[in-house]
Amino acid sequence: MSSKLLFRLSTAVALGAALLWGQADGPDGGGVTPGTFPAEWATGGPNCIELPDWQVHEFNADFYILRQSGCIHYEKPFLYLLFGVDKALLVDTGAGEPGTGAIVSKVIKQWLERNKRGSITLVVSHSHSHGDHTAGDKDFMGKPNVEFVPSEPKALSKAFGIKTWPTGVGRIDLGGRPIDVIPIPGHDVASVAYYDAKTGVLLTGDSLYPGRLYVRDWKAFAESAKRMVDFTAGKIVSYLLGAHVEQHRQPYRDYVVHTQYQPEEHPLQLERAHLLELDLALEKLGDAPRKVAYAAFTVWPRDPH
Ligand SMILES: [Zn+2]
Ligand SMILES: [Zn+2]
Repeated sequence: MSSKLLFRLSTAVALGAALLWGQADGPDGGGVTPGTFPAEWATGGPNCIELPDWQVHEFNADFYILRQSGCIHYEKPFLYLLFGVDKALLVDTGAGEPGTGAIVSKVIKQWLERNKRGSITLVVSHSHSHGDHTAGDKDFMGKPNVEFVPSEPKALSKAFGIKTWPTGVGRIDLGGRPIDVIPIPGHDVASVAYYDAKTGVLLTGDSLYPGRLYVRDWKAFAESAKRMVDFTAGKIVSYLLGAHVEQHRQPYRDYVVHTQYQPEEHPLQLERAHLLELDLALEKLGDAPRKVAYAAFTVWPRDPH
């Protein structure tokens, strides 16, 4: 084969690969069920007495985002509740004394009424094992109609059929709604991302969100970012949704830790471009961990303990 032809062939292969990264055939919405975000989220104030402990937002009829008020815990995490025909999936249970059981029961009750259903099994899982995402676990453990998945690699692997941790990908079908479960250790040993093909949403927990990305295991974190890039290549990705917002709307600026009221916080939703930026950042930093701020997030090495 002439080198000229070889060049043409490799260019064609590269172009083919580039098309794969193009994600959708045309600007037609990508075939996913869309959803909306509030113009702004309640954070924690200015008048706490007026704020409910939870803000419940209907992203769409089968996908709810719950945000805990900064008035009851400065971490003000986001929780996700997705419904399929057979099961609902709750990702995370809140921080401090969240009262998550009551608010989740209320949303499920309303969903059941709207769908003229008597009951649905609730699967409770987590983005990772840190206390600001698991504090409400006791509201769900051992309760009827609840499948509780402890936030640790072995239990996650068993529940979602992950054959090799962390390189394998698991799955749960909620009934007409498969959710892929991707191990992404680095922030925590039990970190996982959830991909909902129905909406094209990737739930990234504390591993990628507008804020401080604390990295406990640098090598694992970089490998996880790369695996998320690989996993999402060629897939529709509408939004990346993490578990906090700490970033200010002003680029390269955050609200310092323990901030309760964030009137000008960055939107919750990120895009796949942010994941590519993170992956590139980690690749460039190599095995020299250091704190680096980007427009929408900061990579922040932390002591593993
Ligand atoms: Zn965490
Ligand atoms: Zn957290």
